[in-house]
Amino acid sequence: MGELEPGPGELYLDFLSKTPSGVCLLAVSKNHPAEAILDVYNQGCRDFGENKVQELVAKHEALPKDINWHYIGHLQTNKVKYIIPFVHLIHGVDSVRLLEAINKEAGKHQLIVKCLLQAKIAKEDSKFGFSLQDLKILATGKLCEFQNISISGLMGMATNTEDAEEIDAEFQELACLFREFKSSMPQPESFNYLSMGMSSDAHIAISRGSTMIRVGTAIFGSRRY
Ligand SMILES: *Cc1c(COP(=O)(O)O)cnc(C)c1O
Repeated sequence: MGELEPGPGELYLDFLSKTPSGVCLLAVSKNHPAEAILDVYNQGCRDFGENKVQELVAKHEALPKDINWHYIGHLQTNKVKYIIPFVHLIHGVDSVRLLEAINKEAGKHQLIVKCLLQAKIAKEDSKFGFSLQDLKILATGKLCEFQNISISGLMGMATNTEDAEEIDAEFQELACLFREFKSSMPQPESFNYLSMGMSSDAHIAISRGSTMIRVGTAIFGSRRY
């Protein structure tokens, strides 16, 4: 990065200034090194998101212990055990099998782990998540079985498209489901995360009631894979 280009810390502050105070700005640091994370941390950010278990564990070990680590990727049941002891919030819970695995592992550590259910709102086939119908079925009972999980909200990703109207319609659908879900939860006050919106569509998500945006590229620059 050249001298004149703003670093991640500055880009974070810039994005934060455009984010309403009720919306949490999660800095998605996947594929970026510890130095870049510290630059953002030093501007006051304490919420970082990762989508690979190994990378998350390594960064948790190397970086300040007051960071809230969010897991935002697709989580395999056999890897749950590595993140449970320290993870702050698991965003992409997309199957009952995964709920069972998280619940079991959290129980071993006598923890209650906060999870968001991932709703499949995008038109693409590739995105993970529960169908809206499955979510409605889940809401009417099965969730109470998981004593070591706090179902804290919903998460979704819109279709990767230039069509702002399509994105807007998908976020509106998710926000509507979120409100329905919240009113049917036994403890609605702990169901308060609507995690939707990324670098390119955060403004649309916020206008539809997002409470947490997950921003990578606009803070850290593009990722090299
Ligand atoms: C990478 C990622 C983001 C951040 O995407 P950007 O376009 O870089 O802001 C948000 N959510 C999830 C689930 C991701 O995997």
